Amino acid sequence: MRHPSADLPSDEHVHSEFSWDAVDGDMEATCRRALALGLPAVSFAEHVDLTAWALPPGGWTPPEGVRGSIDGHGRFLGAPLDVEAYRASVERCRALFPDLLVRCGIELSEGHWHPGAVRDLLRHGFDRVVGSVHALDDLRTPGEHVEVDVGYTQRAALDVVAAYLAEVRAMAAGDAPFEVLGHIDYPLRSWPADAGPLPWDRIEEQVRDTLTVLAASGRALEVNTSLPMDLRVVTWWREAGGGAVSFGSDAHSPGALARNFRDVAAAVAAAGFGPTGDPTAFWGRS
Ligand SMILES: [Zn+2]
Ligand SMILES: [Zn+2]
Repeated sequence: MRHPSADLPSDEHVHSEFSWDAVDGDMEATCRRALALGLPAVSFAEHVDLTAWALPPGGWTPPEGVRGSIDGHGRFLGAPLDVEAYRASVERCRALFPDLLVRCGIELSEGHWHPGAVRDLLRHGFDRVVGSVHALDDLRTPGEHVEVDVGYTQRAALDVVAAYLAEVRAMAAGDAPFEVLGHIDYPLRSWPADAGPLPWDRIEEQVRDTLTVLAASGRALEVNTSLPMDLRVVTWWREAGGGAVSFGSDAHSPGALARNFRDVAAAVAAAGFGPTGDPTAFWGRS
C-alpha cells in the first residue's frame, strides 16, 4: 500500500553510493527514508561523467572518499559508474521495499559531447536519464573543459551563467538521449558572493530562450530543490510552452532526500503545474 498521506511528488534526482562524489550515499537508507516520507517513487540518477575537468591553476585534491582520477594532463575525471553493481543494488532494494517504485537512472553529463560513449552506455536501458551540464570550455586551453565553479576564475560572473545557458541550449537542441534537464540553475550554486545578488533582469532573456529550446524538444524541466530554484523560472517554463516538471533534490545522502519538496511543490502548483493521474510520473500543466 502507498503511504496514505502521499502527496509529495517523486524525487527524480537522487544519488547513492554508486555516484563517485556521494561519500555519504546509501541506497537502502534512501529507500527507507522515501517510504517514511511517503514518496511515491525515487529515481536514482547516478553520475555518468565523461568530460574530464582541467584543474584550477592552484591544483585540487579530491575530498576524502571522492572516487576519481587525475590524468597526466592534470585533468580530473570522476570514477565510472559500475553499472552491474548498481543494477544489483537497485534489484535488492526493490525486493526489500516492494511498496516503493525505485527507478534505476543516471545523471548524464554533457551527453551531447560524447555521442559514441553514450550510445554504448544506454544499451543498459536505464529507467530515467537526467541530462546535465557541469562543464564549460576552458578559456586557458582550447579543447579542454573546466567545472563550472572553476569557470568563475576565467570569466566574469554573468558570463559564466551565459556560457552555461548557451551550452544547455546546445544540449537541448541536440538528440542526446535524456528526458529531463537537470538543474538549469547550476551556476548559481557557486555564484561568487562578491558579485552581489544575481541580476535576473540581465539573464531573463537567455533563460527564456533556453526554456523555449527545451520545450520544443519535448523534454521536461527539473526543479532542483538544492538551492532551491527561483520559481520565476517555472513561470517562464510554462510561458515557453513547457509540458512537464520533475522534482529533484539532488540528494547525495539519505537525509537530503526530497529536501524542501513540500514548499517547492506548492509554489510549482501555483505556477500552473500539477500531478497527473499517476503519482510516480512527472507533473504536467494544470
Ligand atoms: Zn548535477
Ligand atoms: Zn546530481
